[in-house]
This record gives sequence, C-alpha cells and structure tokens, in this order.
Amino acid sequence: MNTMLIWGYDDRMQKLSPAGSHYCSACQGERSFSHFLAYRRNHLWFLFSFVTDRHYYRLCDDCHEGFELEPRIVEPELPAHPIPFYTRHSWIALAALILLAVLWSLRDSPPPASSNPPNPSSPDRTAIST
Ligand SMILES: [Zn+2]
Repeated sequence: MNTMLIWGYDDRMQKLSPAGSHYCSACQGERSFSHFLAYRRNHLWFLFSFVTDRHYYRLCDDCHEGFELEPRIVEPELPAHPIPFYTRHSWIALAALILLAVLWSLRDSPPPASSNPPNPSSPDRTAIST
C-alpha cells in the first residue's frame, strides 16, 4: 500500500476581544486596541492537527503595532479556548486510528513460535533426584 504523507503547517491570527483605547506610539495618537492570538497549526493530510507557537498580543486596530502578552495572564480571562477543539486535539484521532490498525494487524497473526520447543522424547532435566 502506497500512501503519500502530506505534512505542513499554517500560521493563523485570530482577533479575540477589544482591549480598550490606549496611546499608540506608532500612530502617535489615541487608538482602539484589540487582543489577538497568533498560533501555528501543524497538520497531516489537512485533517489531523495540533497547535504550536501560541502567542497573545495587544495590537493597535489601525496600524497593528503593539506588544506581546503573557499567556498565563490572558488565558484565565478568556470565556472559552479561542482555538477550536478539533484543531488542537485531532492528532488524538490519528493516534487512535494507528492503534486500531496495529491491533487489527495483530488479530490474525499466529502465536509466536517458541525458539526452544519442548522435546517429548528427552528426559525431564528439571526433576530432582535423590
Ligand atoms: Zn497604531
């Protein structure tokens, strides 16, 4: 069976919530800011994926300049995880499929042959004689 592996990644940026009005040093004025999440989705066959390189930002809505925020400060304030569940954890489905394929291939396998089968004609050497 020939199977072509398609492995890749894409970088995604997602707007989360308004972050109020602040002075923007790039725009030189008072601007509205928003919280953003940038992450990398690694995938296999565009179907099974997991997330790496997660970064939160507070960026100006006009020029997109800003600064990075600590995840431990941002994440507890989020109402739900911003990255879809399947995007984060679909690799578990792939692992389950691989496990099922391994179990299926072992289903009809003969039992392993013993390397030193017992010989019925030889005397029992484990018996203790007195
Ligand atoms: Zn700005």
